[in-house]
Amino acid sequence: MLKEIEEEVRLTLNNENKVNEYKRNVINNTQGSPVAITISFDMSWSKRASGNRYDSLSRHALAIGVLSKSILVAIVSSKLCRVCSLAESDNEEPPNHCCPKNYDGSSKAMEADAALQLYITLYQHSNKNIVLKAVVTDDDSSMRALLRYKANIRKGRLPEVIPQPEWLADPSHRTKVVAKSIFLLSTLPMDSSTCTKVDVIRFKKYFGYMIKENRSKKISEIVFASKAVVEHLFNCHDYCNSNWCRPKKQLEGTDKEKGKELSTSFYRNKYNDAKLYNQIKKPIVHST
Ligand SMILES: [Zn+2]
Ligand SMILES: [Zn+2]
Repeated sequence: MLKEIEEEVRLTLNNENKVNEYKRNVINNTQGSPVAITISFDMSWSKRASGNRYDSLSRHALAIGVLSKSILVAIVSSKLCRVCSLAESDNEEPPNHCCPKNYDGSSKAMEADAALQLYITLYQHSNKNIVLKAVVTDDDSSMRALLRYKANIRKGRLPEVIPQPEWLADPSHRTKVVAKSIFLLSTLPMDSSTCTKVDVIRFKKYFGYMIKENRSKKISEIVFASKAVVEHLFNCHDYCNSNWCRPKKQLEGTDKEKGKELSTSFYRNKYNDAKLYNQIKKPIVHST
């Protein structure tokens, strides 16, 4: 039994008797009531030029326990074997060898396939005593489809004895997705948009911070807080919180350095930069 998995189970259950029961079940190959853990999943590859390249021949995927932050399962998917390729080019049968080639599908589908294999591995290696409560990952719809039952969705390949996981968004990925439209604005000529790379960096920073601060709050509170991302950038602090927003703190009169002139020159202005304000607001309104 991997000690990393045991630690994740211990942190999930937070009850030593139940942990011992889980350990007994795994050792005796009996199925008790399964422990539902949450993992973070991602796949990396050595040949990466951008987020849109999928032509890599070998990639590795990791399942990381969100409580222990340890790697619980790792998998390497490879589409290539040098020994097999050489034999094939010589039109010969390959000799007996330890073949690393374990994947035959498209490179794009590799990540979803690896996630499915990781889940099945975790389930089987724990003698059916670990299931996934949720997976934190990027917005890969093919992965979500693959880890469902065929009865529910045509692409589903999860065996029906294994419970389907829930899906949680990876905050840094979500920030990247939302900031993408702002980034595109910054690449336009100045007469189309005055958006700069600095605006993009600020937007990403504010958005990431907003998610981090509010992720466990109610949706209505998140909706309110999310308005601060653009408004703060344009020097309007109605939606900000004085815990982190200096101008707000000054307005409330709780700033220690009260009375001291605050430099606000780095903020955009809603009226002078009205076109940019509307350009930045539009994609956000559309994406919610
Ligand atoms: Zn081979
Ligand atoms: Zn503010």
